[in-house]
Amino acid sequence: MNAEIIAVGSEMLTPYRMDTNSLYLTEQLNLLGVEVIFKGIVGDNLRRIVAAAQHGLFRSDILVFVGGLGPTEDDLTREAVGEALGLKLQRDPGMVRRLEDRFASRGWKMTPNNAKQADVIEGATVLPNANGTAPGQWLCGEFDGREHILVLLPGPPHELKALFEAEVRERLRAKVPPAFLATRTLKVAMLGESLVDSRVAPIYKSFSDVETTILAGAGEIELHFKNRAGTQDAAQRRVDEVAGLVEDELDDAVYSRNGESLEQIVGYWLQMRNATLAVAESCTGGLLAERITSVSGSSRYFLGGAVVYSNQLKTDLAGVPAEMIDRHGAVSREVAAALAEGIRYRCESTLGVGITGVAGPGGGTPEKPVGVVFHAVASDGGTEVLQRNFPGDRKRIRRFASTMALDMIRKKLM
Ligand code: ATP
Ligand code: MG
Repeated sequence: MNAEIIAVGSEMLTPYRMDTNSLYLTEQLNLLGVEVIFKGIVGDNLRRIVAAAQHGLFRSDILVFVGGLGPTEDDLTREAVGEALGLKLQRDPGMVRRLEDRFASRGWKMTPNNAKQADVIEGATVLPNANGTAPGQWLCGEFDGREHILVLLPGPPHELKALFEAEVRERLRAKVPPAFLATRTLKVAMLGESLVDSRVAPIYKSFSDVETTILAGAGEIELHFKNRAGTQDAAQRRVDEVAGLVEDELDDAVYSRNGESLEQIVGYWLQMRNATLAVAESCTGGLLAERITSVSGSSRYFLGGAVVYSNQLKTDLAGVPAEMIDRHGAVSREVAAALAEGIRYRCESTLGVGITGVAGPGGGTPEKPVGVVFHAVASDGGTEVLQRNFPGDRKRIRRFASTMALDMIRKKLM
């Protein structure tokens, strides 16, 4: 069975609000083995909601509407869905009384417009909303010539979630054929998306039953594998098989197979090696330290460091000789190495990291254009320095540089 989600609300057609409910709902439907084949957003407009519902009936088995169930003029989902199905709304007197009681219990008098929240589409089951006044509705039957399920849910995310869990999940489970979903995620550092895809596409294309998605970020790529089968074991076996082959192909570029972040993996290796870390950051301005300390327990291996943006502080805090900066420039292989070695020495850490580069958009030169970054990792075995020329804007270059440094630490410890 497949499903679609229609978010109702004009605010989500502005630049200021996003439809996030459908992300939650997609996850929940997937867990039940239901594929989401379409998502839409429609404003608070009766004709357009009716049209969306009609198209949805043509397209999908399950239609989930979110939003537009409140008491105000622009809450039109009930009317629109009723109209699309050719069904009338009936005001439920018991529910009007419950709404009045709800208001009375807070010492308020209910305004008459609230009563429309008790309008129920003919034949629908009312889904009580413990966290708000607008209840949901559930309809199951033959519409437009075949079996459909239609669910109407409130828009406020906390109401939607509570109502889905309490009233919708088990109703759906009883209606959809049992399907077991297995997933696996591999994360890859510092390889280009097209390179990764060219190497692994021949592998995942031979698994026609496994759905493969590649998500690329600055220096990090996630490969998601998903499979449905009659048993959990069978589904898991197939995703593990494809993930295993992809991992063999990409070798040590794969840093995570169970969802861990690069920061967590670096923390894991530092603890495994009983090592500590200190950083001296120029162009990343503390981003590396921020990412490392986003992991709880990082105090066990991260000592700290310095944000050394000015040349003076590179000398004062990380011991980089001033004449080295004069001779090679602050953005140079030599200074990156000296930052790593200097901070390692001053903090007495096992590893020291230095980052210096041109994040842009200004400050580039023909020899050192925007995007050039030098990364250094110092240890008792010596200092490794790697230069990269990253593409993108300031934010992306800084993200790339911090990822590169994390990956160098990981490889050093592995
Ligand atoms: P109700 O069914 O309770 O009337 P509604 O969404 O129509 O829901 P609104 O007052 O329009 O009621 O919205 C309530 C809050 O829920 C708003 O902050 C709105 O932005 C948010 N909201 C509505 N739909 C979504 C959605 N799809 N994703 C995220 N937030 C949403
Ligand atoms: Mg709304």
